[in-house]
Amino acid sequence: MARSTDEFRLIDNYFKGLTHQSQVAVGIGDDGAIIDSSASTQLVIATDTLVESVHFPASTEAEHIATRALCVNLSDMAAMGAEPKWFTLALTLPAEAAADAWLQGFSRGLAKIANQHNIALIGGDTTAGPLTISITVLGEVPKERGLVRSGAKSGDNIYVSGTLGDGAAALHSIIDKSQTLSPPSSRLIERFYCPQPQIALGIGLRDFASACIDISDGLIADLGHICKASGVSADIYSQQLPIHSELKQQFKQQSLQWATSGGDDYQLCFTVAASKEAEFEAWVATRKLVVTKIGNMGPMAHNQSPVRLDNQTISATSGGYNHFHQKS
Ligand code: ADP
Ligand code: MG
Repeated sequence: MARSTDEFRLIDNYFKGLTHQSQVAVGIGDDGAIIDSSASTQLVIATDTLVESVHFPASTEAEHIATRALCVNLSDMAAMGAEPKWFTLALTLPAEAAADAWLQGFSRGLAKIANQHNIALIGGDTTAGPLTISITVLGEVPKERGLVRSGAKSGDNIYVSGTLGDGAAALHSIIDKSQTLSPPSSRLIERFYCPQPQIALGIGLRDFASACIDISDGLIADLGHICKASGVSADIYSQQLPIHSELKQQFKQQSLQWATSGGDDYQLCFTVAASKEAEFEAWVATRKLVVTKIGNMGPMAHNQSPVRLDNQTISATSGGYNHFHQKS
């Protein structure tokens, strides 16, 4: 892989051209695809793959692998404002994982999350090889109510759900071989292996959000995707970022970096027009949802990264996780 080639350029160069067909309302480039399936509903489809030692540590229990794999996929449904309905599972298993005990744990994890969200496993594929779990989730939205990355306007407010930095804190403390960090709390373990997909929030946001994404690669990288898709820039402020007190206390040095660039949080980042702010915040209060305003969108920034933190330009690739980006 050439140094300059990254994951997104690869997709743009080799796959994006294949996305056009009359029923494809949103193709490659968002958290999910939207397909015109009937006169009143659209089908939303998203795929995510988890590879052992890349997306979860090699020692992870089978049940935890399954819950994480399904939660991560459902998070893309939340980002699209979709109601998930069905999923398929492509499982690549090394011989040692194909034991009954492993499969029972894996199946238990899948069932736990599938039952929580009332979704059905409808097919898949099973092969032998290095442990890899690829899930495709299918969901529905009423016609043209899906959330996309491309609708943000200059002046919109930016919000995030829940707290940021937990995913990175969990990962670092789980894999901390030197044992210099505090061991992960049960809250962090839960956040890493069962990152609650924000489905109900996503569905509610159909009435309010101008753009939405889930935070998988880090706030700055993912907000950068909204900026790019919408042709705007973003200003966010570190004082406003929702960081759990546990992180502020135990990971004082790292918590801001993890909240802005850590990834693995699976919270929603979305924009709401300033004219809808009062109505939106009243709706949030009645639902007792945890959302925090972290900044606002501005006009497109030419020749610089689109996201500014405390008025400083931050490069998305300096922080967010990108599979084919090699740091020099
Ligand atoms: P997310 O982080 O929301 O899962 P990704 O960053 O993985 O999204 O992918 C960005 C976009 O590129 C998505 O629309 C995804 O469907 C698309 N994409 C990724 N890999 C491929 C591929 N091999 N072929 C076609 N489309 C792809
Ligand atoms: Mg996503």
